[in-house]
Amino acid sequence: EVLGLVNKDLLRTQAYVNGEWIDAVDGKKLEVLNPATGKPIARVAHCGANETRAAVAAAAAQFEPWARRPAKERAGILRRWYEEVVAAREDITRLMTLESGKPLAESRGEFDNGVASIEWFAEEARRSCGDVLESPDRSRRFMTLKQPVGVVGAITPWNFPFSMITRKVSPALAAGCTVVLKPSEATPLTAFALAELAGRAGVPAGVLNVLTGDAPAIGDAMIKSEAVRKIGFTGSTAVGKQLMAGAAGTVKRVSLELGGNAPFIVFEDADVEKAARDVVASSHRNSGQTCICTNRVLVHERIHDAFVEALTARVAALRLGSGLEQGTTQGPLISAVAVDRLEEKVQDALGKGAVAACGGRRPRWEDGSQLRGGFFYEPTVLTGATVDMRMFHEELFGPVTPVYKFGSDDEAVQLANDTQYGLAAYFYTKDLSRAWLVAERLQYGMVGVNEVAITSEVAPFGGLKQSGIGREQSKYGLAEFQDIKTVCLGIG
Ligand code: ADP
Repeated sequence: EVLGLVNKDLLRTQAYVNGEWIDAVDGKKLEVLNPATGKPIARVAHCGANETRAAVAAAAAQFEPWARRPAKERAGILRRWYEEVVAAREDITRLMTLESGKPLAESRGEFDNGVASIEWFAEEARRSCGDVLESPDRSRRFMTLKQPVGVVGAITPWNFPFSMITRKVSPALAAGCTVVLKPSEATPLTAFALAELAGRAGVPAGVLNVLTGDAPAIGDAMIKSEAVRKIGFTGSTAVGKQLMAGAAGTVKRVSLELGGNAPFIVFEDADVEKAARDVVASSHRNSGQTCICTNRVLVHERIHDAFVEALTARVAALRLGSGLEQGTTQGPLISAVAVDRLEEKVQDALGKGAVAACGGRRPRWEDGSQLRGGFFYEPTVLTGATVDMRMFHEELFGPVTPVYKFGSDDEAVQLANDTQYGLAAYFYTKDLSRAWLVAERLQYGMVGVNEVAITSEVAPFGGLKQSGIGREQSKYGLAEFQDIKTVCLGIG
């Protein structure tokens, strides 16, 4: 029994370079922990600049052959990858929960969203086309070709160990690009399983390479390479800025999905019960560790108390535990450091007058409990939150829901927009004019109106302001991996 997997070959612990499983040149390993227990579950190859250069060289060598294959062939291979991955759902979701801590039900949800990206881009591969333009004169004709940008460096985080990969790798391969992927060091097992299945599906050696380890060294080797023409990154705003600055050196394209600070506005005409339910779904999903998680709840003063009561009842009812256990609705955070950082922000708020309606501390497990070593924090609601608290401006990335009050639509919109971030925003109202006007005024790349499940393979995903640049998913997500070439034909 290997971590309880049905197919033990899906547990891969080496790097995947040019179609082969390799160790780091210096033999270094990195430990992958189960965040629910704090204990190691695997040791994987810890790679750096050397292995990255080898992976980039393999991807560069395979670029032209892959790009020149008919789109129908690339689509067929992506389709087979999709089918291999779907068949491995049980094992992959188990790996996701083991290394990221999220409850199995959430791993399954992420899996279903993530495979939908592979399927979608397998289909989109064949729908790409250029233009034939009306010429202004008799002697020339103009056309455009959509061509793959080249080798792509993809860097992904631990909070969605599966879907952040599929939404980058699938459009890249569909467009005809080759890829060097660096998954988070915290969650490499899901990524390696995806690479194993890509190989089985017939993705040629060198077209998809996967390695992790020394993140700055790997990132730097990607950034400095002339061959890498694009960086696709999801992660923190700080690292995203470094990558964007570095990309200037060789004028690479970048797509960056960075931090968020999502407001959730509950207007006075909202359905309070539904709003409370959806705040919990959005704010406590993945223990609050997603870039589109509700980070600030703004509630109209007239319904504030009723809303807080409904919200607190739901948050207090969340069941904390190991993601592998049936009935767990909130898992651990990713690391001990993540718990420390969250605790600091909660302490800051409590010190400035916020009140914990529930939670507000680490759980007290019984002696001898397996989970004592895990990275847990209690599901928390804070009332009396104000703009002078750190959590108004900074991402919480934890299971904490702060509630702020407002008195008018203008004030709600002003508070919502008062941040450097602009990824997702939500608001609940029954008034159609308000729905339209507020959706227009919110400075966010994605707006949920009476809905928090805003992501889909068919809809563009991305942020404004310091939340990022570029879009993933949808037809726009494919375009990010294509250059437009003008061909002018002289016929005079
Ligand atoms: P998070 O808070 O989600 O961990 P990070 O930005 O630190 O955000 O991590 C996102 C991804 O970026 C991970 O794969 C991580 O290893 C990688 N990363 C971190 N630092 C760098 C860096 N200097 N260069 C390239 N990638 C990096």
